Amino acid sequence: MPEIQKDDSGGKKLPGHVKVAVIGGGVVGCSILFHLAKMGWKDVILLERDELTSGSSWHAAGLVHTLSSDPNISRLQGYTIDLYKEIEETSGHSVGQHITGGFYLASTPEWYEYLKRERSKARYMGLDQEFISPREMAERHPLIDPKHYHAVLWDSQDGDVDPSGATYAFAKSARVHGAQYFTHTPVTATTQRPDGSWDVTTPKGVVNAEIIVNCAGLWARELGHMSGANIPVQPMEHHYLITDKIQAVADSPTRLPSGIDYEANIYFRQEGQGMLLGTYEPKGTPWKVNGVPWDFGHELLPSDLDRIAERLEMSFERIPAIGEAGIKDVINGPFTFGPDGNPLIGPVPGMTNYWCAVGVMAGFCQGGGVGRSMAEWMIEGEPSIDVWAMDVARFGNWATPDWGTVKSTENYERRFVMTFPNETLPKGRMQKTTALYDRLIAKGARMGQGFGLENALWFADGPQDAHEDPTFQRNRSHEYVAREIKSVRQDVGGIEIANFAKHEFKGPGARAYLNKVLAGYVPKVGRVTLTPMLTPKGRLYGDLTVACLSDDHFMLFGSGAVQEAHRRWFERDLPDDVHYENVSDDWHGIALSGPKSRELLARITRDDVSAEAMKFRDIRETFVGGVPVKLVRISFSGELGYEIYCKPQYLLRLSEAVEEAGADLGYRWYGARALMSMRLEKAWGVWTLDFRPDFTAAESGMDVFINWKKDFVGKQAAQAERKAGPKRKLVTLVIDVDGIDVSGDEAILLNGRAVGYVSSGGYAHHVQKSMAMGYVSTEHADAGTKLDVEILGQMYGAQVQGAPLYDANGANMRA
Ligand SMILES: Cc1cc2nc3c(=O)[nH]c(=O)nc-3n(C[C@H](O)[C@H](O)[C@H](O)COP(=O)(O)OP(=O)(O)OC[C@H]3O[C@@H](n4cnc5c(N)ncnc54)[C@H](O)[C@@H]3O)c2cc1C
Repeated sequence: MPEIQKDDSGGKKLPGHVKVAVIGGGVVGCSILFHLAKMGWKDVILLERDELTSGSSWHAAGLVHTLSSDPNISRLQGYTIDLYKEIEETSGHSVGQHITGGFYLASTPEWYEYLKRERSKARYMGLDQEFISPREMAERHPLIDPKHYHAVLWDSQDGDVDPSGATYAFAKSARVHGAQYFTHTPVTATTQRPDGSWDVTTPKGVVNAEIIVNCAGLWARELGHMSGANIPVQPMEHHYLITDKIQAVADSPTRLPSGIDYEANIYFRQEGQGMLLGTYEPKGTPWKVNGVPWDFGHELLPSDLDRIAERLEMSFERIPAIGEAGIKDVINGPFTFGPDGNPLIGPVPGMTNYWCAVGVMAGFCQGGGVGRSMAEWMIEGEPSIDVWAMDVARFGNWATPDWGTVKSTENYERRFVMTFPNETLPKGRMQKTTALYDRLIAKGARMGQGFGLENALWFADGPQDAHEDPTFQRNRSHEYVAREIKSVRQDVGGIEIANFAKHEFKGPGARAYLNKVLAGYVPKVGRVTLTPMLTPKGRLYGDLTVACLSDDHFMLFGSGAVQEAHRRWFERDLPDDVHYENVSDDWHGIALSGPKSRELLARITRDDVSAEAMKFRDIRETFVGGVPVKLVRISFSGELGYEIYCKPQYLLRLSEAVEEAGADLGYRWYGARALMSMRLEKAWGVWTLDFRPDFTAAESGMDVFINWKKDFVGKQAAQAERKAGPKRKLVTLVIDVDGIDVSGDEAILLNGRAVGYVSSGGYAHHVQKSMAMGYVSTEHADAGTKLDVEILGQMYGAQVQGAPLYDANGANMRA
């Protein structure tokens, strides 16, 4: 049974003013406090309702490992594990760390494939993972029956910590570095002053804090409500059990390794002279959906072994000694999940000086990395590695509490369930739809969800045909996507563009502001440009299409996924003479692409859209299909194309006009997979994959769009890099492979040594090649360089490309 410790900090007097008040003394809050103080901010405090570890932290199983679906989270998990030694030394408080190494057990061929992908990621991240045989595993852990397993991935860094010890070590180390923490100090109100600071009310007095950080774990939603923040997380019930003494464990000369068996859905480790075993049941039980009571303390929930009986049965077959041993303790404790299983951290968009680090469901693997990233973000303005996979801004106001509960429950249930590259998760769907949803479904659309909005991935032959099995191989949509691309490249196709972000800037200062915040050229009236947006450290923070509608009116189009992150960026220091709004939901529309798109457009507008009258990168406000639109001549398919934006209420009318006028031109709807394929043969990167804050303008090639003659955010850093030359570069590769394509994060190798990794890729249907984009060290980035790409454990030859494989000089697009 986990132990609760008592601390001596209760009697101290609260300061009247601090720079940062961290609210919540679980492992996450304590780690943030530690990192802030260590990095130099001493005027920081932590306020804890009860004793430290009064949420989920005290009853965790304490397993720590590096494996995560997101490579940067894996890196931060590796950092967390390495940090335990430091905080133990700094605080003098034991964290009870055992580095035993850990097994990832594949009992099916699919799980073996999954692990091969993980191994490939580990190669370029420099993580110490290797495959060992099941027999070797059994030598290291005699309790496990090897006959159930195809393969075993071994990670030497894995092990476990004492959850309470680790949390206290963070807090006491923070104190050593100059921070303070106050226990038995519940925050009962948070009130914002006009200057943006917060008055934080507690029974011991009010503290004015420049910044507050919601680290309230189980109470993240309730604390959020005090300040008007809706946090879409959900505490879930979770069981693990501890066995009586097992003689083989007691006799083992060394502590036994920990492990995860994916198919049985269990994790396990040694606990004293017995074993600890936990599982994520197939039907999760959300806990206190309508709010966690403030007086919930160091309590456990009633256990219900029936819920996990099936999983236990399987695990007893695989680790028979556990089945034979008596059960000493059953722990059922709640902990908080986020909608996609990853934490929600950073400044909350739409709020001032309100940060959060919540939904951290693996706090002992991730707490250190979360703490470091949050402290860097606050103190230095940006985290040192891209934390998009954890950024709270990946959810918007569509991520309601109800949706949060549904999706967080789904993610709990899928904790050890494989998600394939072509898989779309079923829960929380149709949260946001456009007027075309039912019609596109009727035409055979297979939908995906991005930033809450349904969008077509590909089109089958009608609704009955719109299915595919999850797979790592080429999937069933392959031929259908080929058909869509053929239409676009030969005739004309249309894709919905409601899911693109749209940002509107108005006011006399708009041009000057955009010139500062964007690195590229801000266009003149009626024109459109493409520009990178950089952080002060010269890293990419956006690739945006800027349109000038009038001297004081601009629209920016960009990635829908990062719209709230960009909103947060723009609102950070917006001048008084600029009005900004994220208008993504106000503008839906259709992008027409293909050699016949002009002919189609001309049939449904009275405007002159001839090549002379409407040039590539022109924008105008006009009428198309009888509805008011913003018409832009650009295309992401690499063909002649137009993006037609209209208010949502006009979309149905517009689509009918397009379909009617395009009937004899071979018009066909196409989906996101076709677009992603076509952009590959044009060698165009996409945001969140090829372009993200891990990379600079020069590395990504986006520097060609920079206007070096002006001042802009990140100029100094970008100039310095330009002078020195980037250390790595984004390249396009053609891979010599059949029947399978990359899906992202594969290692790129030269003579067996990782020299880079794949940022995106797939099959380029028109040129009929398997392609990838990825970052490699500059010395290997020249056209013609021969490299290898590892796909599911196999090495395939690949060659760096020079010019785009399709329409290299852009003649089609500019026609
Ligand atoms: C059964 C179980 C097994 C687990 N096993 C593992 C594991 O093996 N490995 C792993 O990495 N993770 C594991 N976890 C998950 C881990 O426990 C959590 O990820 C971690 O505890 C999250 O920490 P936290 O600081 O975010 O939240 P919490 O621990 O919930 O801390 C929040 C703190 O905020 C305080 N607070 C809330 N509201 C206020 C307020 N208004 N004023 C002041 N203070 C407030 C609370 O009192 C609490 O102390 C497990 C969890 C459970 C339940």
